[in-house]
Amino acid sequence: MDADSAVGLVDGKNMQMIKNFFKTFLLFELIKGMAVTGRYFFARKITVQYPEEKTPQSFRFRGLHAQRRYASGEERCIGCKLCEAICPALAIKIEVAEREDGTRRTTRYDIDLTKCIFCGFCEESCPVDAIVETRIFEYHGEKRGDLYYTKPMLLALGGKYEEQIAKDRAADAKYR
Ligand code: SF4
Ligand code: SF4
Repeated sequence: MDADSAVGLVDGKNMQMIKNFFKTFLLFELIKGMAVTGRYFFARKITVQYPEEKTPQSFRFRGLHAQRRYASGEERCIGCKLCEAICPALAIKIEVAEREDGTRRTTRYDIDLTKCIFCGFCEESCPVDAIVETRIFEYHGEKRGDLYYTKPMLLALGGKYEEQIAKDRAADAKYR
């Protein structure tokens, strides 16, 4: 290192020390922090007062599952097992039997929600829009078995929320 470079280095160091001194002396960092606090103190509040207030939901919201029926009351599910095959969490269990009229229907359709990761693959893979994920997210189980949803439970949910489910599917149809 030549003499000029050495002098430059020492000058730079001194400058930094002087800067640091004034910064400390004038409580610069504190003022900077207070400015941020002040900005957010007067800004519009974005905290949602849940459960009285709720954030908007997308029509693709992936909540609790449901099984749908057609308007005639017939189950949509044809027991193709695509949802079971695609489920990455192995959360779906299906058993199928052929009916007297030659159509296939499930005799067992269970979803273990303790395994489910709510990825939506089951819903996307279904060729007849039978298994869907609803907007319901306020549910709980007190023991493991409470989150094991069987076919009658899923069909009951589908019946109860069909209006909302149909609206959401219609809104999503153009993107599928
Ligand atoms: S949402 Fe995903 S993890 Fe859950 S049951 Fe469907 S495919 Fe399986
Ligand atoms: S819910 Fe859909 S994908 Fe799953 S078995 Fe029934 S028809 Fe097939």
